[in-house]
Amino acid sequence: MPKTICIKNAAWVAAWDAAAKRHCYRRDIDVAFTGDRIDFVGKGYKGKADETVDGKDSFVIPGLVDIHSHPNIEPFYKGLREEHGVPGQFMSGLYERSLAYWPDNDGKLAAAEVAYAELLTSGVTSLADLSGSYPGWIDLIAKSGLRGFVAPGYASSRWHMDNDWELKYKWDERAGRQRFEEALSVIKDADNHPSGRLSGIVCPMQIDTCTEDLLRDSMDVARDSKRPFTTHCAQAVMEFNVMVQRHGKTPVQWAHEIGLLGPKTILGHAIFIDEHSWLHWHTRKDLALLVETGTTVAHCPTPFARYGQTLEDFGRYRRAGVNMGIGTDTSPHNMIEEMRWAAVLGRIAAEDINTLQTADIFHAATVGGATALGRDDIGRIAPDMKADLVLVDLRHQDMRPARDPLRSLIYTAAERAVRDVYVDGVKVVDEGRVTTLNRGEAVARLEEAQIRMMEKTPGRDFRKRTADQVTPLSLPLG
Ligand SMILES: [Zn+2]
Repeated sequence: MPKTICIKNAAWVAAWDAAAKRHCYRRDIDVAFTGDRIDFVGKGYKGKADETVDGKDSFVIPGLVDIHSHPNIEPFYKGLREEHGVPGQFMSGLYERSLAYWPDNDGKLAAAEVAYAELLTSGVTSLADLSGSYPGWIDLIAKSGLRGFVAPGYASSRWHMDNDWELKYKWDERAGRQRFEEALSVIKDADNHPSGRLSGIVCPMQIDTCTEDLLRDSMDVARDSKRPFTTHCAQAVMEFNVMVQRHGKTPVQWAHEIGLLGPKTILGHAIFIDEHSWLHWHTRKDLALLVETGTTVAHCPTPFARYGQTLEDFGRYRRAGVNMGIGTDTSPHNMIEEMRWAAVLGRIAAEDINTLQTADIFHAATVGGATALGRDDIGRIAPDMKADLVLVDLRHQDMRPARDPLRSLIYTAAERAVRDVYVDGVKVVDEGRVTTLNRGEAVARLEEAQIRMMEKTPGRDFRKRTADQVTPLSLPLG
């Protein structure tokens, strides 16, 4: 029999108000769940509970829904990528990095374990994991306890550079097709996994690295199997320019033309849409296309902010009617810090403090993501929802004064105050520690794998540089 747990007298709860379609604060209420479902949210739970949790020091929020991440590679870039950009490629370090730094499969498992632990301890319970498939992936994400939306990536080409101002492509359609088939089989493995917490997303990796045929076929599979579809689109000025040269259209307009946009489509990151100030492009159609088609934007501000780039602006997209979600594209995999960046950068881009509110960001990190994934049973605290819950410690010094606990959490405490996390009613973070993974041991393996990766850099970098030459240390060695 599944057991019933009651969080008694929770001091603050971010509960779902279904009539108003928004989260609201509720105070001193009980939240009870049996097995994987919430069965009571309100005052005076009268049912039987196998376990009672004293909620007087807790702020209970729904588990966060992260709709864009690359756990198998991004942890490798700690210390390598934060300030790594190529000025001649509009500051983006994306292309050069993808050539110079590429981990081996053993390292990928270590990286993913580190990233999953970071995600869980920052309150993420649902994760879209966009990774090229590698051995052990499905078992590891299942073991983590996360609700995994597995998105095995593939492409018809790889980026290539011979100099630091052009972006070139090495095409191999047959290899792309083969990876597509492999991806479909990984998706099947996820669907059939006994945990019942995994499912698949169709993920041609980037709009510019896949042929039109591969993209169309991918969308057909997604549509026929009613799955989400995701790809990187409008993520860089270089990509925008390449797509205009190829098709005479912006990446978003071309994606629309070939049928990729829709209510189950998630675009990472839709920053460089036609109206972005860096582009000076002549049309003003992209935002409307996203709205008309119900397409979701996966907003991951951190890596772009490090290049000096930002989406313009979160508030405008939202007011236009775009479904906005949040992701953690890079290290740290800290969803709460990502929410803080989204709030602050949105206001900087808009030059307007009122362009967005904290509630908008919280909505995106919960319900926005859930909507994108086609799930109306996650991202909300209400009866019949999945028991994906985060208990934030109101007594943590960084939360106090907790006059407005969501603001304390987002603008100050972040993951430091995340105490307990439940996914499907199972506790996966206990007193700030992940119970399902061995983070310390995984970090040690990641360190070794990063060294192995950097040793290979001279053979991979287009100028045969060492890792220290591609990314010098932030201070000179004395
Ligand atoms: Zn990405």
